Amino acid sequence: MTCKDCARSIGHEQYRESFDSLGVELCERHTKLIKRVILNNDTPLEAIQLFYALKEAGANPMLEWWDGKRSVDIAISRVKLNIEIDKDYNMITHEQAINDLEDAMHSFKNGFTTVRIPHLAVKYYLTDTVDNILGIISGLKANIRAI
Ligand SMILES: [Zn+2]
Repeated sequence: MTCKDCARSIGHEQYRESFDSLGVELCERHTKLIKRVILNNDTPLEAIQLFYALKEAGANPMLEWWDGKRSVDIAISRVKLNIEIDKDYNMITHEQAINDLEDAMHSFKNGFTTVRIPHLAVKYYLTDTVDNILGIISGLKANIRAI
C-alpha cells in the first residue's frame, strides 16, 4: 500500500487510520495535512476522494484553491475549471442557493467554469464522475484552442 499523495509505502495500520477517516490511503504526514485542510475549510470528504481520483487520472487538480474571493473545493487551473461538491440538496437554504448562483456568475465572468457535483455522485459513482470531469476538461481545452 502506498500514499496516494507522495507514493511512500504505508503499513496496514496507517492504511486503516487514513482510509477509515478520509476514504483515501495516505501516509501519516498527508493524513495530518488533509485533516488540517478539512478543519480550515470545512471541505467535504467527497472533495478529498474526488481530488485524489482526479490526481490519479492525471488531471492536475488543486484542493481548496483560493480564487481571490473564496476557496474552491477543487480547481483545474489549466482549463479554468472550478469543481464544487454539493453536500446535501435538502439542507440548502434559499440564501445559499442564490449565493451559489451568484458565485458561479462571478467566476464565469472571470473566465472560469463552475461545475457543482452532488456528493452522492462521488460517493457511489466515483469512476463515472472522474470520467465525466475528464470529458469536461477536454471540452474546455477544445474551446480554448478554438479561441
Ligand atoms: Zn504521503
